[in-house]
Amino acid sequence: EYKGMSKERMMEIRRKNCNPMIMKVTSYKKPVFVHQGHMQWLWDVDGKRYLDFFAGVATVSVGHCHPRVTAAALQQLKRLWHTTNIYVYPPLHEYCEKLASHLPDPLKVVYLTNSGSEANDLAMMMARLHTGNFDIITFRGSYHGGSPQTIGLTSNSAYKYPIAGASGCTNTMCPDVFRGPWGGSHCRDSPVQTIRDCGCAQGHCMANEHPSRELEELCSTLKNFLKEAYTLVRERGGVCIADEVQTGFGRTGTHFWGFQGHDVIPDMVTMAKGIGNGFPMGAVVTTPEIAASFAKGVHFNTFGGNPMACAVASSVLDTIKEDGTQQISLKVGTYMMLELAKLRDKYEIIGDVRGKGLQIGVEMVKDKASRDPLPPDEMNKIFEDVKDMGILIGKGGVYGQTFRVKPPMCITMEDADFFLAVFEKSVHDYMERR
Ligand code: PMP
Repeated sequence: EYKGMSKERMMEIRRKNCNPMIMKVTSYKKPVFVHQGHMQWLWDVDGKRYLDFFAGVATVSVGHCHPRVTAAALQQLKRLWHTTNIYVYPPLHEYCEKLASHLPDPLKVVYLTNSGSEANDLAMMMARLHTGNFDIITFRGSYHGGSPQTIGLTSNSAYKYPIAGASGCTNTMCPDVFRGPWGGSHCRDSPVQTIRDCGCAQGHCMANEHPSRELEELCSTLKNFLKEAYTLVRERGGVCIADEVQTGFGRTGTHFWGFQGHDVIPDMVTMAKGIGNGFPMGAVVTTPEIAASFAKGVHFNTFGGNPMACAVASSVLDTIKEDGTQQISLKVGTYMMLELAKLRDKYEIIGDVRGKGLQIGVEMVKDKASRDPLPPDEMNKIFEDVKDMGILIGKGGVYGQTFRVKPPMCITMEDADFFLAVFEKSVHDYMERR
């Protein structure tokens, strides 16, 4: 018990005094009462250990309470928590230079914020000021924030409210080849395809089975999807923003940033979550040219770039390098996708496996022929079962049909094997009961 507070008492407070939405989002029938974390592990108030394969939606990048990051936070905590950035203090400068060194030219000017929504809000404003244009295009099904402006970028009905939204935001089709209007099925040649390998933005190329011209054209476009999209936008006087809130900091394995490997350089990169390994922080990195357009007014953010956040984030960058977490993402993530693809071929309800590095989606269906999403109640049975066996994963997708696997990047092959065994057992048991 925490300060003598029972689970019942916490649930009562949750019902009475907490944002009611979190009750809905909890979704476990038997909630997890988290008490402590270390690296890839979480312990509940009863001392039961969980392997955390969701990491607060890819937020815990290098591990819960990572000793090196914790030491950096403690050192800064004792020295200076806060000062406004009208003063020159070392952690901010150390961090801005270090972060900028991880980005290609001309992305060298750093703005620090406290969250991903704030970063995207800022990027929207900068893009509009710099280009003189107003309209912003994002993909359907995306999430880019919940603030009054970024909710316009987010295109998932679960997050929308029936009030007038941000104007000037248009959501275009996501090139989803599993559930998109193009239909499709898996590549026969290779069980796991990534954006780079296959050329399809979301995973599996279905041109082998549906050799219609339209599909072939689509696939050839998708091969260079990002590059072509950037060209189209820039030809019309637009700028391109890469939201790396989940995909940055080595999570995709092959590269440090998700946009890398596609022969593009964005005009702005927004980031958050993994940047601080759970410490509230976000950033926009842009070009000197865009920064100059934005310098025409005063931009101020009380907590953005505070000494604590900078000290933590700086240590996170060092840790990514020293612990080799990007290499872990590549090795363990690729292994998991290949093994999950075998489960996909074995079980009728696993429709699709896709991702890159330690950013993996497992899309569940009623059956492979219909591809109808597995309904939420059914999803929850597997979700709960996996949790009861000691692993926390996430759920997402437009219909809540996709399990999300995004552990801290410190996991081992043994952890991956344990997850695979648990996931298979819960799917197997579900099929038996069905
Ligand atoms: N962009 C992406 C891709 C995200 O996943 C999120 C958070 N889920 C955000 C932006 C918003 O970040 P925050 O919750 O820190 O405002």
